Amino acid sequence: MRWIIGVDRKQAAAALGWVKALAAQFDLSRVAWIRIDMGRGRYRGVYGRCWWPTKKLPMFRISCQVPGPYPTVVQTVRKPLYPGPDGRWPPVPKGCHVRGYGRDPRTGRVWLKLGAQTLLRDINEGIVWIFGHELYHFLRQTRQIAGRNTEAYADEFADWCLLRFRCCADRPPAAASWRSQ
Ligand SMILES: [Zn+2]
Repeated sequence: MRWIIGVDRKQAAAALGWVKALAAQFDLSRVAWIRIDMGRGRYRGVYGRCWWPTKKLPMFRISCQVPGPYPTVVQTVRKPLYPGPDGRWPPVPKGCHVRGYGRDPRTGRVWLKLGAQTLLRDINEGIVWIFGHELYHFLRQTRQIAGRNTEAYADEFADWCLLRFRCCADRPPAAASWRSQ
């Protein structure tokens, strides 16, 4: 596995050390490379992608772009809200907003699509957050972590990484024991 670093190593030293120590807790033998760079000037904020193995290249690849500028706000996806057995909606969780309404025409089941926002104060927080999100997709696909391989779970894991980085930038958490709330 190869790290491709295209950010200022000095400025991002705290986050780079932290994400490398986080990644080292897992089996990365099926990852070809992990790239962290400033993007190509087309988008702002933070974004990334986890490529799954293909016939031509049977390895995962993780790409994280962190152009900012900072602070930047990420729009996150939360797990949907379902009505209770009595048909009443539980309150929208604190910090969340309703993104839309969903309905399965086959079963008639309905739900509210929820979103939230995460503030990334600087490039170090940007790296930790987007790396956590993309790493989660790989970890879940290779059954190295709990949860489901959806945007809501990847965002929840990314938010958890960010909180852990803010409190303890010198030591990453035992991530394999992570559980969705
Ligand atoms: Zn994702």
